[in-house]
Amino acid sequence: MPRSHKTHSCIVPGCTRDGRNRLGVRCRIAHDEAVPFPKKGRTSALWSPDAEAYLCDSHALGGAHLTMLFEPDASESLTIKVIATTTVDERSTRIKQP
Ligand SMILES: [Zn+2]
Repeated sequence: MPRSHKTHSCIVPGCTRDGRNRLGVRCRIAHDEAVPFPKKGRTSALWSPDAEAYLCDSHALGGAHLTMLFEPDASESLTIKVIATTTVDERSTRIKQP
C-alpha cells in the first residue's frame, strides 16, 4: 500500500531538497517538585509544539546556530515563527574593563 505524505520544502533559502524533518521546540520540566499535571514529572514536556518549518536531511544534520527569542504574551497559546537564513553576520566585541 503506497504511503502518502505531504511534501515540504527545506526552509533554508536556496535549498531545493525535500524538507523531511520538522522543527519544533520543547519546554521540559527541570525539577522534581510538584507540577500542575499529575502524570508528568522531571523531563516531561510542558509543551512541545512543532513549527511549520521543515529541513532536508543535509541541513538537519549539518549543524546550525539556533537563536531563540521568547516573548511572553499572556495568550495561553504558543506561536512559533522560524526565520531561516543561510548566513548571519555576527560580530563580538570585548567590553573594555576599567
Ligand atoms: Zn536543505
